[in-house]
Amino acid sequence: MARVYNFSAGPAVLPEEVLKEAAEEMMDYQGSGMSVMEVSHRSKVYDDIIKTAEKDLRELMNIPDNYRVLFLQGGASQQFAMIPMNLMKNKVADYIVTGQWAKKAWQEAQKYGTANKIASSEDKTFSYIPDCSDLPISEDADYVYICENNTIYGTKFKELPNTKGKTLVADVSSCFLSEPVDVTKYGIIYGGVQKNIGPAGVVIVIIREDLITDTPLPGTPTMLTYKTHADAESLYNTPPAYGIYICGKVFKWLKKMGGLSEMKKRNEEKAKLLYDFLDQSKLFKGTVEPASRSLMNVPFVTGNEELDAKFVKEATAAGFVNLKGHRTVGGMRASIYNAMPKEGVEKLVEFMKKFEEENA
Ligand SMILES: *Cc1c(COP(=O)(O)O)cnc(C)c1O
Repeated sequence: MARVYNFSAGPAVLPEEVLKEAAEEMMDYQGSGMSVMEVSHRSKVYDDIIKTAEKDLRELMNIPDNYRVLFLQGGASQQFAMIPMNLMKNKVADYIVTGQWAKKAWQEAQKYGTANKIASSEDKTFSYIPDCSDLPISEDADYVYICENNTIYGTKFKELPNTKGKTLVADVSSCFLSEPVDVTKYGIIYGGVQKNIGPAGVVIVIIREDLITDTPLPGTPTMLTYKTHADAESLYNTPPAYGIYICGKVFKWLKKMGGLSEMKKRNEEKAKLLYDFLDQSKLFKGTVEPASRSLMNVPFVTGNEELDAKFVKEATAAGFVNLKGHRTVGGMRASIYNAMPKEGVEKLVEFMKKFEEENA
């Protein structure tokens, strides 16, 4: 068995311990004589799995009682529509556009009402987070929307925007559970789990109860109404059962590791290794303004496309895979999510040093 260091932005690396446990339970989950893929989502066995997953997530994130946790499908992209459909009472929302995912969400919202772009960092290829301390928030905005960690560009909001009292909605797909958060500052926190939590196919939505309406925009499908899933405790229809089971295992793993403050510490250490190297390298350089740097996604370039391609090729051969940058940025990107061990980053930096010497 040869495992590689997988620096993919998503689907991404998962903790080996979790994968091994899942493998052990594959043929017979806790005496049921079946794998979790085969059990009924209405069974006692499955009820325990989904309830325990929610309980552990609530503990990890310290989620207050007036927030609901929903395990849904359709990926983060489906939320781009579901959010305006359920929240746009005044048909006005403000979007801070800091990358492609925020831009897609903003464009989707335009189908349902007035979606204002109140700030953007597109002028510099989304390489920074704009000052959001005093934005022209619309008086009748139903919410203010951000993508908190920009997976493609490697930027992160270090401070939440001043929404002037309006509800904050955040896509945290690529920084979910990477550090402690104050849930009470948000109306909705959501993310696809395939970046930092589990397998593709599950999206987790943490939503404040007063935002769960039984009067979404006319024509909103039953399946795209938060209330449907809140009332049915995420079991309105067959949920992505196996994916939720793996998420549950990752929550247990995070608790065992010491919770989110410990993850933050580890993630800061890992990111520092890489950024410190980039800052002194004569060959590689980071593409993001230092104040906006993400702990999870680290894009970098050599400035020479041929050399970038050579690096990616040699890195792959050495067992450091999926380092090719997003097609819109070029260069390289190392995603160093929770499950990437520190050793993986140390070895990558060693490899980069060697490459730099050989290609000086
Ligand atoms: C990957 C990603 C998405 C898209 O997720 P899907 O589950 O593929 O729809 C949206 N937002 C962010 C921040 C992402 O990283």
